[in-house]
Order: sequence, then C-alpha cells, then structure tokens
Amino acid sequence: MANKRDYYEVLGIDRNASEADIKKAYRRLAKKYHPDVNPGDKEAEAKFKEINEAYEVLSDPEKRARYDQFGHAGVDPGAGGFDTSGAGFDFDFGGLGDIFESFFGGSPFGSRAKSRSGPRKGADLKYSLEISFEEAAFGVEKEITVNRMEMCHTCHGTGSRPGTSPTTCRNCNGTGQVQYNQNTAFGRFVNIRTCEVCHGEGKIITDPCATCGGKGRVRKNVKIRIKVPAGIDDGQTISLRGEGEPGYKGGPAGDLFVTIRVRPHPLFQRRNFDVVCEIPITFVQAALGAELEVPTLDGRVKYTIPEGTQSGTVFRLKNKGIPYLRGSGRGDQYVKVYIDVPKKLNEKQKALLREFAEISGEENYEQRKSFFDKMKDAFGM
Ligand SMILES: [Zn+2]
Ligand SMILES: [Zn+2]
Repeated sequence: MANKRDYYEVLGIDRNASEADIKKAYRRLAKKYHPDVNPGDKEAEAKFKEINEAYEVLSDPEKRARYDQFGHAGVDPGAGGFDTSGAGFDFDFGGLGDIFESFFGGSPFGSRAKSRSGPRKGADLKYSLEISFEEAAFGVEKEITVNRMEMCHTCHGTGSRPGTSPTTCRNCNGTGQVQYNQNTAFGRFVNIRTCEVCHGEGKIITDPCATCGGKGRVRKNVKIRIKVPAGIDDGQTISLRGEGEPGYKGGPAGDLFVTIRVRPHPLFQRRNFDVVCEIPITFVQAALGAELEVPTLDGRVKYTIPEGTQSGTVFRLKNKGIPYLRGSGRGDQYVKVYIDVPKKLNEKQKALLREFAEISGEENYEQRKSFFDKMKDAFGM
C-alpha cells in the first residue's frame, strides 16, 4: 500500500478537482495508455491499471471522501477487513453529522414514528479502544469484545419454539391495529391505534423459544477484529457499518463506533504527524559536541550535535514521525536538547570548574558578550 502513488497524482489533477475534471483526466489518460494503443508495452499496461484504479475511487464520491481522509488505507479492501462476514466498513473522524444521522435514522421523525411492525434499523453501539502510541503510529489489528444482541439461533429470530409458529392475534385479527371510537365536542371519530395485545405485530407467540424467551434475540459477547489505520490520533473514531445491534423485521443492523484512545508515551509527544522529544545533555556535550543516542519510533538512532550547541536547540529528523493517514509519507521528529546542570558535584569537580572559569573569558560566551554589550549601551556603564 505504501508504494501506491497518490490517486490525484496518477490522474494529474488537484484535490479540488470536480467530477467533470476527473472524468476528463481519466478519458485523456486512458486513451493514451490503453493496451490497444500500446500493444506489448508493459509499462503502459501498468499505467493503464493504475489510472483505472484511481478513477474507480475518485469517481465515487463516497470512496473519494474516504480516500481524502485516509489515503489508500481508506479504500483498500484489505485494509479494513474483519473476520465477521458481510460487514461493511467505514471510517469516521468524529463527524457528528454522520453519527447523528445514523443514530436517528437521518430524520427527526425517524423510524420510531413509523409503524412498529415495519423494518427498523438496529441500535448503534459505542466502544472505546485504548492503544499505545506506537500502535497509533503504525496501525494495529485488535480484537474487541462487544456485548450486543444477536439473532437467536435456536428459533432463527422468530421467537417461537422450533416446530411451532405464532398464532394470529385475535384482538386485531392479525392487522396489528385496532379501530376505536372517540367522542369529542365535534362529534364522533374513528381512530386507529396499535394493538396493545400483540404490540402491532399481528401475531402472538404462544409457545416461546426457551433460549430467548420469545424475543428472537439474545445478548452475547461477540469478538470483532478491528484494523486501526496507521496515523490515527487520540479521539478519532472508526465506524464499523452493520456491527451494532441487529435490525428488526429485516431492517439493517446498527453501526459500531469505536473511539480510539492513545496512551501517552514516556518519551514522545505527538504534534499532528510529527513526534516531539526532549533530550537532556551535559554542558560538556553541549560545549564539545557529542554523538547522541536519540530514541525514535523506529528504534535508536545516532545523532551528532555540533560543538557549541545551545540549550533549547531543536534538531529535525526527517521522516521519523507518524505515517500520514491520508496518502503516503511520514511526519518528522523534532528533538529538543536542553542542558542538565549537575546538582551535586564533588570537590575535585568543583575545583576543575573553577579552574576552567579562571581561564575562560567573555570571548568564550557569545550570548553573554552580546548581552553585556547591550547593557553597556543601555546604561552607559
Ligand atoms: Zn429464540
Ligand atoms: Zn393484535
């Protein structure tokens, strides 16, 4: 995946390209690299494949959005696989609009207002997953256990003991609704309400399934594998379509929203896709220069600081940061050094430092020299 070229780059368009631009670019390139035009040309064939792949993603608004957010990881079918079959996947970055849409069926007058007996979407579930700093940086596959309702396998969701079937509700004759008369000041009205005997189902389970007690569903702990994409950050959410509670009457299952919590690292801090780390050095190292051992996400690396390195100097290690969620490449690591002044010195050490001070002068300290020059200018002394 990491070797894949950016799809926008493949089509030679920028990220704000319209659908028409994408189509135009695709047509032009497809014509140029079509195998019929370039018989036997392996390179053209590979290009043609690449162009088609890019077009397939960018021409589909949903896939394009996912690609924009997560790069190839968001659209690669292998990148979001779970062991449960038939589950779609999708990533969502705390887009409240999306979340509310799926919680409430996209409408303030959502499915609840509709007839109880129609298909209904299952409830959404939330889960919080804690991962390490490194796991967030490089991605990880985790198995989580979710406690959710599952269809009862004894009765296959019907709620009736196997071999029996529900009987028609006598109260409503199987319609699920009851007519009743209402007397008001304006006259008599015929109203319809949901049958309270069968709760609108039209049928009554007379011989309930022993496993689920007639509910047709049972609560279970379900293991779900989650592929956490490299570069994810604390607080971001992965949404797994169809991994929530099962739907009712053929309605779709709800979704599972997994919010990522990243444990703090003892040495590293994250700033977008960069890693920041502070390293204490001795004043001897600062003055003479030294080869430092710097911790990075990829292990220890050697870094040489020059003679006369000041406290607070920041060095940059290119591409040692966090992999980008969208597209390829990585952030950088910033290493800030500061001088660790010794708090306990023995007599010999102190004597050597005094001797050093004696043979040192202003010319050894650029910053102090410039400071005292300014002070002289300011106070005339
Ligand atoms: Zn059952
Ligand atoms: Zn009824």
